[in-house]
Amino acid sequence: AWAAYNGVAHAVAVSSGSSALVTAMEALEIGPGDEVIVPNWTWVASASTVLRVGAKPVLVDVDPGNFCISAKTVSGAITSRTKAIVGVHLHQTMMHIEPLLALARAHGLYFIEDCAQAHAALYDGQRAGSFGDVACFSFQQTKPLTSGEGGMVMTNSGDIADKVFALHADGR
Ligand SMILES: *Cc1c(COP(=O)(O)O)cnc(C)c1O
Repeated sequence: AWAAYNGVAHAVAVSSGSSALVTAMEALEIGPGDEVIVPNWTWVASASTVLRVGAKPVLVDVDPGNFCISAKTVSGAITSRTKAIVGVHLHQTMMHIEPLLALARAHGLYFIEDCAQAHAALYDGQRAGSFGDVACFSFQQTKPLTSGEGGMVMTNSGDIADKVFALHADGR
């Protein structure tokens, strides 16, 4: 139902937003030796989950106009080790997503949308979580939509969804 509401093909429920990020990164085979670009202004889990999969979080500035990363703040941080960008739609404010996706595509990087604060937010009529390769939600009690604790991984890729489904159950 959450996937359908957001116009995305697949969603897998997990125990928290942090678990969603870890499961997504495991499914994308991000690990030791890899760098993941994350905003320097976010909840700690956007970066700490990168450490949990053994990769290195690389912090980049946010745009003072919307407190989200932008193509401009990210581009200088991309190296040959960069595997993914975690973008956060902070405080229900959407990133300027299209230039970021174009940058990710140009460098062959995954784009992970951290939507823990952006349930139902819209960008040009399209829902948060429907843009990147994979999106992560939290339903913790302080979030815009809550189940007390909870999380969700969402993706249009059947391949990523299958891996997420296998991993979310006991890490099989
Ligand atoms: C809350 C939050 C998380 C982590 O979610 P939990 O359900 O608390 O694990 C991750 N990223 C952002 C941006 C958050 O606000």
